[in-house]
Amino acid sequence: MTFARCAGILRHMPRPIRATISAAALAHNLAIARTQAGAAKIWAVVKANAYGHGILRAAQALHEADGFAMLDYVEALRLRSSGITKPILLLEGFFKPEDIVTLLKYKLTPVIHSIAQIEILEKVSFEGSLDVYLKVNSGMNRLGFTESNLRLAWNALEAHKGVGAVTLMTHFADAEGEDGIQGQLQWFGLLTRSFHAPRSFANSAALLRFPEEARADWVRPGIMLYGCSPLPFKSAEEIGLRPAMTLSSEIIGVQHLEKGERVGYGFSYQAAQEMTIGVIACGYADGYPRHAPSGTPVLVAGKRTRTVGRVSMDMLCVDISDIEQAYVGTPVTLWGEGLPCDEVAQAAGTVSYELLCALAPRVPVVEI
Ligand SMILES: *Cc1c(COP(=O)(O)O)cnc(C)c1O
Repeated sequence: MTFARCAGILRHMPRPIRATISAAALAHNLAIARTQAGAAKIWAVVKANAYGHGILRAAQALHEADGFAMLDYVEALRLRSSGITKPILLLEGFFKPEDIVTLLKYKLTPVIHSIAQIEILEKVSFEGSLDVYLKVNSGMNRLGFTESNLRLAWNALEAHKGVGAVTLMTHFADAEGEDGIQGQLQWFGLLTRSFHAPRSFANSAALLRFPEEARADWVRPGIMLYGCSPLPFKSAEEIGLRPAMTLSSEIIGVQHLEKGERVGYGFSYQAAQEMTIGVIACGYADGYPRHAPSGTPVLVAGKRTRTVGRVSMDMLCVDISDIEQAYVGTPVTLWGEGLPCDEVAQAAGTVSYELLCALAPRVPVVEI
């Protein structure tokens, strides 16, 4: 094959599916977080490849943030080698003694959340000064120190010559729900009342719902930056957020069904009357949830319709009986612009976070 022919092939998308990622939407959503944050600084949370949006692309679009929070060392080093010098917070801290030299070399700030990490810090001898976050378990009971060991951890960090600035942090379990943040904030206050250090509490839900109480010195919004709502009672649009990722594809086949005919694996959907279905080039190998039931919303030619039958690896089917202009090549939106990811997630019994970060590497990304 000649080079020219090869290049010709590469110009084509593998299939009609694509994820369109909007830098302007990311920047806009960060500006909304900034308004909520007041004077607090912002860690833009870009873990999990920036919730599926691409770590470098997202960091560039979110360059107005004060720092980037993630947990993967490979992603952190990709930001550093692309020239990003802003603070980087590693939300799970370090795992092994040999991580300490990487933290120092690349100026990464680890979260210290366990006695095992304190022991590593005390065992490894190093030159230089490491700023750290000290994680307080205020009730979520995932990571962090609480009544029995927080003072020990604080004292160890204060006494350590290699430790620079210490910031106290905690994470809310139910900022969007019935419990809210009051209980955890109170317990945090009691646990830390004798410690003088800056503080960081808020995820997106707390920042949007309880800005005054939750902002403290640094906030940590994630999902809102990508244009999804963390609040079950308020849509992204009502908050003023714009979708950063639109997953779109096309119809690649059309079938006419008589009443009683069935569709897809397991024959799980049966036509209640005569109907037309469109077959879409998008399946669970692209990141679309296989557990999305018949009835999950989809846009075809800008009109709302629903999925029918089981989602397969590379395809899914939608009802196009009432969409006259729908044929092979007609554009389809799976989520994003015109169809909130939150709605698709809800229909599939999950959250937008899971849909966004499951976007498969095989889906071509178009940046706008
Ligand atoms: C993921 C995460 C966030 C961001 O949460 P969102 O709900 O996406 O805003 C903030 N803090 C910590 C510790 C996290 O793990």
